[in-house]
Amino acid sequence: MDFLIKQYSFYNYFFKGIVNKKQKPYKELFEKGKRCHISMFNAKLKKSSTALLVTALLVPGLSLHSKVAHASSEGIVNASSLNVREQASTNSKVLGKLKNNEVITVNKFVGKWAEITYNSKTAYVYSQYLDTVNSQTNIGKITASKLNIRSSADTYSSVIGQFKNGETITYKPVNSKWGEVTYNGKKGYVYLTYVQKIASSEATGSSQTNTGKITASKLNIRSSADTYSSVIGQFKNGETITYKPVNSKWGEVTYNGKKGYVYLSYVKKVEGTEATSSQTNTGKITASKLNIRSSADTYSSVIGQFKNGETITYKPVNSKWGEVTYNGKKGYVYLTYVQKVSNGIKMQTTASALNVRSQPNTSSSIIGKLTKSDIVSVEPVSSTWGKIALNGKTGYVSLNYLKEVSGSSAQPDNQEQQTTTKTGYVTASALNIRQKASTSSSIIGKLAKNSSVSILSIENNMAKISYNGGVGYVSMSYITYTKPSTTTTKPVENYYVNASALNVRNKPSLSGSVVGTLANGAKVDYVSAVNSEWAKIKYNNKDAYVSSQYLQKSTGSSYVDSTGVNYASLKNKVIMLDAGHGGKDSGTVGNGMYEKDITLDMVKRVKSKLESSGAKVILTRSDDRYLYLSERANLSNNSNANVFVSIHVNSATAPSARGVETFYFGSTSATLRNSSASAATNILDELLKVTNSPSRGVKTANFYVIKYNHKPSTLIELGFISNTSDASYLRDNAYRNKAADAIVKGLAKHFD
Ligand SMILES: [Zn+2]
Repeated sequence: MDFLIKQYSFYNYFFKGIVNKKQKPYKELFEKGKRCHISMFNAKLKKSSTALLVTALLVPGLSLHSKVAHASSEGIVNASSLNVREQASTNSKVLGKLKNNEVITVNKFVGKWAEITYNSKTAYVYSQYLDTVNSQTNIGKITASKLNIRSSADTYSSVIGQFKNGETITYKPVNSKWGEVTYNGKKGYVYLTYVQKIASSEATGSSQTNTGKITASKLNIRSSADTYSSVIGQFKNGETITYKPVNSKWGEVTYNGKKGYVYLSYVKKVEGTEATSSQTNTGKITASKLNIRSSADTYSSVIGQFKNGETITYKPVNSKWGEVTYNGKKGYVYLTYVQKVSNGIKMQTTASALNVRSQPNTSSSIIGKLTKSDIVSVEPVSSTWGKIALNGKTGYVSLNYLKEVSGSSAQPDNQEQQTTTKTGYVTASALNIRQKASTSSSIIGKLAKNSSVSILSIENNMAKISYNGGVGYVSMSYITYTKPSTTTTKPVENYYVNASALNVRNKPSLSGSVVGTLANGAKVDYVSAVNSEWAKIKYNNKDAYVSSQYLQKSTGSSYVDSTGVNYASLKNKVIMLDAGHGGKDSGTVGNGMYEKDITLDMVKRVKSKLESSGAKVILTRSDDRYLYLSERANLSNNSNANVFVSIHVNSATAPSARGVETFYFGSTSATLRNSSASAATNILDELLKVTNSPSRGVKTANFYVIKYNHKPSTLIELGFISNTSDASYLRDNAYRNKAADAIVKGLAKHFD
């Protein structure tokens, strides 16, 4: 939803600011989507003195509009896990999941849902959990006498052009300081201090002060509008406060003379049309079956079930759970599957002024207005219109300018994220993956021997497994839970000569004839040790023998270690290490640790190890600071890095989820894709040697930092902070060192 609203509010802002207010509100023309209105509109404008400016500005406005309404746009997943569904409904089948920071292409928006293409099929995700990807285009005016256009978003980069004072430009903010512009067909960057924003798609905060009542037993007052910031005080239940909404979730308050922020889910707005109560609600079950649980969490025991369509009464205990009485006992149901009958959905106005109309269409009469951040109870009557009560009358508002007041923290669909998986291993040489839990169902893929599978459930001796972002079924007859011993044949190892000249002989003996010599430092294709004195090697593609005492396979003067990894390949390589998250973004949190701390510590360890092998290392961040994903990708793209490695730590609702995995982006450039896959594969191979945590494999993904990276790049998930076993690894100093060594080793193999 965010995305669409931001786009639409652009028009709202744009026309409020520029267009004579007597004109028909332009946003409505867009709502109707009739271009003829636009040309009529242009004709009218030509009479006015501002016609030139407005016509000029219409061009970006129109292209932005068509992008939203007709062409695809991109969204970035802002929840830890986002369900992909068959239909635009939480009752519909989950086809797969998208991960945090993954970038997806949105075909169009359908109400609160974004239509996407998933595994070549049309699918839907809840659009509240999508952020825009650089799609926000602003219009600004140059306020400096001359403003440099630079080749990258820093003041040290080269100047590629200049804008003049008063010029109107369009730009995309890349961070709070820099905006991306197009200049003579090239990408450039300008310092935003000297650009006055005229119009924007960005949602702005409200200056409106609300009165609210605290509904939580204690409500933390935080130093910034996120749950990871420090707590500076508390409000008590029932206290009346005044606050300014900064977005749909947080409100700004003044506490002991300081600015503070409170989570609005626990603040009941006193004024306005909202009339939520802590009383009993009536609801209708929307799931095919809804579990009644002994306590308000998905891990508690199931004491009964409601059926689809049943009408129940419940008391909300929080935004997610409702208390019910079942067979004389207290029970709890997940409210996602309960449609409240009495009241509508709590929504907040995102437009500065929103018309309330007598009918659900833009040609009906206006009976009132909502102002920005007003919270109303809305009953959707179509995908674009909702019914509200205004001053005792029924009115209709466009849902495009309303955002659902999220009752929860950042986690969507919590119940559904919970999947307990067990890792199994394939015992057959090629195991069919089938569409359904039947051996007669169609084959959708194959698994090689010893490959690991995440088993979601078992039915009819068929295991439901995660496959290609969706699910598939394999016969349990060919699955074992015992991790296969690594019987894979070792690749030919490279050893180095540490004698001034080393004879190569046709027999493992000094009596063998010399078939050639190897120079000091030469790389040897080592095959195996014949005995303690002789080594079998490949020489001119033939088997040959050298005295093994003159082969160097340790670190030290040479760059080859005991396992034959050639660290010399790292020399002079430029490696960018990206510590995931930072600053206000803690990443995942669990078992007393923050992801951002682990990732920063890890990049520092990897850096010093890489540097001792002669690599040049660039860090995206070397301290606890927040960086936009676009800044990270830009840093890489504007650098001469040979590889980009982003380090992360995973998390899941299911405490049993664990394992190590690496990702790369399936770029259309084969060179980039193959190189990224090589880095991802080599790093995972090495990491698995130093941990007992299972492999989740090398996967392709659309994470922003790898998708928008023009360098070979990989993203590592070191383990699950939410799993006690993985967490004990992640906490351990010795393990972090081993993992850092493994990453270095993987990179050495990648470059070798
Ligand atoms: Zn992360």
